[in-house]
Amino acid sequence: MADEVKKEPRKIVPKKYPMPEQDPKERTKNFNEVPIGQDAQTAILEAQRCLQCKRGPNRKLCMDGCPVEIEIPAFIKQVQEGNFEEAIKIIRQKQNLPAVCGRVCPYENQCEGNCVVGKKNEPVGIGRLERFLADWERKEMKKGKIEVPPSTGKKVAVVGGGPAGLTVAGDLARLGHKVSVFEALQYCGGVLIYGIPEFRLPKEIVKAEVDYISRMGVDIKNDFVVGKLDTVDELLQEHDVVFVATGAGLPDWTGLVGENLNGIMSANEYLTRVNLMKAFKFPEYDTPIRVGERVVTIGGGNVAMDCARTSLRLGCKESVILYRRSDAELPARREEIHHAKDEGVRFELLAAPLEFIGDECGNVKQVKAIRMQLGEPDASGRRRPIKIPGSEFLIDAQTVLIAIGQSPNPLVPMTTPDLKTTKEGTIAVDEEGRTSKKAVWAGGDIASGAATVILAMGDGKRAAKSMHKYLLGDKSWPSPEVFEKLSCEM
Ligand SMILES: Cc1cc2nc3c(=O)[nH]c(=O)nc-3n(C[C@H](O)[C@H](O)[C@H](O)COP(=O)(O)OP(=O)(O)OC[C@H]3O[C@@H](n4cnc5c(N)ncnc54)[C@H](O)[C@@H]3O)c2cc1C
Ligand code: SF4
Repeated sequence: MADEVKKEPRKIVPKKYPMPEQDPKERTKNFNEVPIGQDAQTAILEAQRCLQCKRGPNRKLCMDGCPVEIEIPAFIKQVQEGNFEEAIKIIRQKQNLPAVCGRVCPYENQCEGNCVVGKKNEPVGIGRLERFLADWERKEMKKGKIEVPPSTGKKVAVVGGGPAGLTVAGDLARLGHKVSVFEALQYCGGVLIYGIPEFRLPKEIVKAEVDYISRMGVDIKNDFVVGKLDTVDELLQEHDVVFVATGAGLPDWTGLVGENLNGIMSANEYLTRVNLMKAFKFPEYDTPIRVGERVVTIGGGNVAMDCARTSLRLGCKESVILYRRSDAELPARREEIHHAKDEGVRFELLAAPLEFIGDECGNVKQVKAIRMQLGEPDASGRRRPIKIPGSEFLIDAQTVLIAIGQSPNPLVPMTTPDLKTTKEGTIAVDEEGRTSKKAVWAGGDIASGAATVILAMGDGKRAAKSMHKYLLGDKSWPSPEVFEKLSCEM
């Protein structure tokens, strides 16, 4: 396929080549992916925008912004030549889930944020190229067993099959260790499978990435809740090392009056019903979902955008985001905010909920909210929202979705007594991901608190290097005082 593509001489092109998308009016009627992806010719043209910069003193390049250290100029060079197979091999050396990261990574703040072309023009579309190559690989390359080195005889247990766990599994399988992943749900993928909706990340793509990892010889044990079936201590009897990557899937609540009315759900429950259980295809699938005419989503991150956009696709008449700061502080990715606005989500900014009001049957009917203004920056560096007295107002809502954050899953820390946690409930780790318990590492959202896919993968990468060193014989471990300090400081 690549051979048939016409190669063009390099020229300065100020903007990224466009990524075709489904029309906003059409796409709110379906769950299909919004961006359609670039074709081979466009990918080559996009790659030709890259200057192939060399590293120099005091010069930050694209790859310095990538938490999993992909050799970005090297893979782009191969795309410039139309050598897609070589290009994806370079990515695969460092990255276990390229089709995912090419879709959901905040690359504007990472690799693309450091791109030299981006100083005067739009940066090279590194995320689009990664996505293109991963999609090309899935369609064009054979799906046989993936060669790994002969077995080292060492056994690794990974608890949780989200991006952090899958990264450790892929990296350690690639080094010849025998890896088993223990996942609580019926599929691996973590938030990629139960949280991020189909229209951003089709589940077939996540399953294909998980399949790639099992083709490396990783044993995937789904429906296995560690802490209920085996504990971490029990896993250690059968394995040399354990990596805990159980994520931050515990929903935070507002604690406001009326929060237990019918029609009020955590974002987690709502998205799990729709994505994992396919409630949007009810009754073809068994799990139901109820969405009212007016939906109010509380929060301003990616999770809130996903809830608001999902609600439109489930047929609500109006989908409102209620966020206490202004547009500039919305924590969601810019692309997601644009998509939400194009689709007709209404943003009620600088406003916070005060109370949920129900009808005589216990169903939510209104959200009482108050206008806010921004004061001085708080500990997070963002300007603190302050209530404006007397500015209360009501918004009608038959469905309210709470998307104000998630906390670490407590089950593994609760059932592993010598695992130190911080006061936020995250597992305390050192810079290599080592925990207070010898031979146990942790990473991703369970160690950092709710963050991003690529940061979870970066944690996995660092831990995999440290675990490999340990498995090869270096059993050094930080002193208990290190973890005492970590658990108090954070
Ligand atoms: C709706 C939503 C949208 C998001 N959008 C983006 C985005 O666009 N870009 C981005 O970069 N990030 C996004 N994020 C954040 C990102 O998905 C997470 O930071 C990332 O998935 C964390 O990876 P993880 O592997 O640490 O944990 P998770 O993805 O949470 O995976 C943890 C896994 O462990 C399993 N598990 C939990 N407890 C146990 C147990 N006791 N035994 C066995 N298994 C267990 C869980 O079932 C899960 O599969 C989003 C998050 C959500 C919720
Ligand atoms: S910084 Fe930008 S232009 Fe330079 S090598 Fe990386 S992608 Fe190419």
